[in-house]
Amino acid sequence: MTSYVGDSPVALRPEGAEMGLKALIIVDVQPTFCEGGELGVDGGNAVARRIASYVDERRCEYSYIATTQDWHVEPGAHFSVTPDFIDSWPAHGVAGTPNARLHPAIAALGVAHHFKKGQYGAAYSGFEGIEDGSDRVQTRSQMDVMLAQGRTLANALRDAGIDAVDVVGIAESHCVKQTALDARNLGFDTTVYRDLTVPVSEEQGEDARRAMAAAGVTLTTSRLRR
Ligand SMILES: [Zn+2]
Repeated sequence: MTSYVGDSPVALRPEGAEMGLKALIIVDVQPTFCEGGELGVDGGNAVARRIASYVDERRCEYSYIATTQDWHVEPGAHFSVTPDFIDSWPAHGVAGTPNARLHPAIAALGVAHHFKKGQYGAAYSGFEGIEDGSDRVQTRSQMDVMLAQGRTLANALRDAGIDAVDVVGIAESHCVKQTALDARNLGFDTTVYRDLTVPVSEEQGEDARRAMAAAGVTLTTSRLRR
């Protein structure tokens, strides 16, 4: 006779209850990566608006919400006048410029934590960022001080007691993928919402989703009411 499964801990949990604390990481939603930007992705502006709606509706589910931004000062070979669009790119996300600021739809959310990355090198993952809510162009010595203070995303999530990380933003094939893979490698239960991100191309999006799924990242949709 098949055993009764109603006494499992999962089944006893109230409908909709979550175990542990959850963070939302909004990756690189900046004008530089939206239509009209230096590395504009088709659908970027629409994703920015959908993420803003999502945060308006669901922010109470999150103990911690952070944004990341490409914030390049002198990123070396990451920038090129003859880019290969694999390891080298046209100038984008230039620290201190309007297109490197948060997309207006995201800026209006009043998120508490802001991580800037790629000041002096390539940085695809938000976990390479340093928390700095100002729009200053950090010098190398300011970066050293902030690093010594341990102002990293991994430390912030651990300090906040986070167990699970939801990743959204631009681009699914690049910085969202790398941020999600790092989150998973750090041991967080990691989810990417497919309707709240967009790849550079559909082909690169498929490759990214395959890599994320293989690493144990959950790919789903936000079921946002709108
Ligand atoms: Zn970059």
